[in-house]
Amino acid sequence: MTTERIDATNFEVPADADPSRCPDCGRPFVREELLVLHRGYEHSDILDDAGTSAFEDTYESENDHLNVFRLKALLALILLYFVLLMTYAVV
Ligand SMILES: [Zn+2]
Repeated sequence: MTTERIDATNFEVPADADPSRCPDCGRPFVREELLVLHRGYEHSDILDDAGTSAFEDTYESENDHLNVFRLKALLALILLYFVLLMTYAVV
C-alpha cells in the first residue's frame, strides 16, 4: 500500500479554530491523539523517545477503542438479525 503525500497547506481550517499542528510538516489536526499518530506514522524516523512512547500508548488506546467498536457493531448486527427473524416469524 502506498501512502499518498498530502500537501500540508491544502486544508480548510475555520478561522476561529485552534488546531494542533504537526511541528514537522504543519498539517493541522482536530485532536492531539491524531497528531501523535500522524507523527508516529509519517515522521517515525525523526521521532524522539518521548514521541515514540506517546505514539505507542496512543496506538494501543486507539486499538482498544477499535475493538470496543467492533464488539458493539457485532452485537448490533446480532440484535438486528433476531429482530428481523422475529418480525418474519410473526408477520
Ligand atoms: Zn507531519
